[in-house]
Amino acid sequence: MQPGDDGRVAHGAGRPSWCVVHTDWGDGSAFLKAWQAWRQHPQRPRLLHFVAFTDHPPHPQAMRAAAQAWPGLSDLAGALAQQWHALLPGFHRLSFDQGQVLLTLGVGPAQTLLREQSFEADAIRLGHRGLPVNATDWDIHALKALARLCRRGTWLEVPAGDPQLPQRLAQCGFVTRSPQAPAAAAAREPLMWQGEFNPRWTPRPARMAPPQAPESCVVLGAGIAGACVAASLARRGWQVQVLDAAGQPATGASGLPAGLFAPHVSPDDAPLSRLTRAGCRATRQLAGQALLAGTDWQASGVLEHGARGRRELPALAPGVDPAAQAEGSRPATPEQLAQAGLDRSTPALWHASAGWLRPDRLVRALLAQPGITWRGQTPVTRLSRDAQGWTLRGAGDEPLAQAPLLVVAAGMASAAWLQAHLPLQALRGQIAWQVHAGHHEGLDLPPFPLNGHGSLLPAVPLDEGLAWVAGATFERDSTDPAPRPQELPAILERLQTLCPPAARGLAPEFAAGQVRAWAGVRATLPDRLPAVGPVDAQALPGLWVCTGMGARGLTLAPLCAELLAARLHAEPLPVSQRLAQALAADRFLEQKGL
Ligand SMILES: Cc1cc2nc3c(=O)[nH]c(=O)nc-3n(C[C@H](O)[C@H](O)[C@H](O)COP(=O)(O)OP(=O)(O)OC[C@H]3O[C@@H](n4cnc5c(N)ncnc54)[C@H](O)[C@@H]3O)c2cc1C
Repeated sequence: MQPGDDGRVAHGAGRPSWCVVHTDWGDGSAFLKAWQAWRQHPQRPRLLHFVAFTDHPPHPQAMRAAAQAWPGLSDLAGALAQQWHALLPGFHRLSFDQGQVLLTLGVGPAQTLLREQSFEADAIRLGHRGLPVNATDWDIHALKALARLCRRGTWLEVPAGDPQLPQRLAQCGFVTRSPQAPAAAAAREPLMWQGEFNPRWTPRPARMAPPQAPESCVVLGAGIAGACVAASLARRGWQVQVLDAAGQPATGASGLPAGLFAPHVSPDDAPLSRLTRAGCRATRQLAGQALLAGTDWQASGVLEHGARGRRELPALAPGVDPAAQAEGSRPATPEQLAQAGLDRSTPALWHASAGWLRPDRLVRALLAQPGITWRGQTPVTRLSRDAQGWTLRGAGDEPLAQAPLLVVAAGMASAAWLQAHLPLQALRGQIAWQVHAGHHEGLDLPPFPLNGHGSLLPAVPLDEGLAWVAGATFERDSTDPAPRPQELPAILERLQTLCPPAARGLAPEFAAGQVRAWAGVRATLPDRLPAVGPVDAQALPGLWVCTGMGARGLTLAPLCAELLAARLHAEPLPVSQRLAQALAADRFLEQKGL
């Protein structure tokens, strides 16, 4: 292994996290070496972030072949290959080793994408080892974009070559040393300039807020949003208490017996589409780490029936590999349509990265992780703040918990404390479900879930047995979570459009009153995007939220929790900064002119 190829991970020993940036992904072996060095170091940082950029993601086979040249990298290359799919232009977050090794891959020019991030880097390698840095690509403006991500002392390595480069780097605050040419030649290493960020002026970093050291935190709400936030913070060393009014976790909207995680698709690739694509990836990764596939969740693929008109996939920019899009979403094949009992002319998409999940299973698994204390039967009625931080109080105004950081993730109930800041709106919904009772074959159900106008999960292993789940109704401004049997026919009606054979098969059960109902209340915001981050940093310091998941909590909560943690720690964002800002919890303050 060459010096520096391990991303200087050893320099992060004993620190809570270490963030390496490589502006050129190359064949991926530098990431694998950094990951290996992290695994082997006895005092490894709790979290390793590796940020890298590539215009054209290499084929996994090529990366595996490159990894074979280095001892011990093959297994890591295999794990990388499993997540190496659907890499469209933009940012992708790949998560390894229980979320402790996080790869943020930017597909596109590093110079442009770096401006879409706001983190604090510890070590940077500019360009590709052995190849001189291209002076046009790394002009003064591009180097300034890189300098925005540095703290005093950020380590830098650049292939030697362009004689003007040290001067340009100095203009941006980097101090570089001349390469040790004879020593490098003797070791048959490429010549590298090394240095660090140490400007003569006070740097103005790009990050949204100074990184916060992990301490104690209270999360209000033990639904999927609260549990994901708790897990993301605990992974970073926080001691997290999760309070909930109910005696069991996941009794609110997250008590849904099972639901879908799936991407939204739009011809202009709207923020919701980009967000849900990243969300599906995050949900799959978290479910894969915390749950049992086939029992608690399944990346089954989902067929989206465009009953209300065809959903258009966005046009691909020139040069983008169509396979990258097809690995995520593509037109459904005639075989898939036939399996769903749909006519071959039916407009439909196949979302290969989608699937089903039992949210209560995920919530319970996350709350059981180290660093998290779950406290049920603890209804919170009032929040107050003093020099120590936030105090949550019960019905008799008694203090229930206190911490410098409070994250409100109480679904629609968050409005009780945040109404002046977040225009949350209730959207009640109901599903129908029933166990198959041994006659699955006779029901004519499709072999995979469907969504579109309503949804159908044909076979989910619930506690009561293998069951079908059909959804869902939408009723604005109702906060009544009680199921209503009189609404079940509306679900059958949706099913008749979504999947006629399934509706025919299940109609007798609906008619005989043998179908069970479950209802819950979704919390939505006017732009259909969640709210993540500080609500009002000036007026309510230390009060953050993660809510407004609407009808997509299973797709969005794991990603939103990682986004919240990244913002808190000035870590690389799992999505672009523009998308993160579209989710900012204080976005409505500006609209109201508060
Ligand atoms: C019918 C229906 C079908 C759905 N289908 C899907 C689907 O297929 N896919 C999908 O992604 N999403 C689906 N959703 C949406 C999904 O369920 C939600 O987005 C998600 O569960 C919201 O999670 P949450 O943690 O934000 O809120 P919740 O799960 O509601 O959690 C809030 C928690 O806060 C607690 N709390 C509230 N007030 C207090 C208080 N004062 N003190 C202490 N604790 C308090 C509650 O007890 C609750 O546990 C569906 C929703 C419904 C209703």
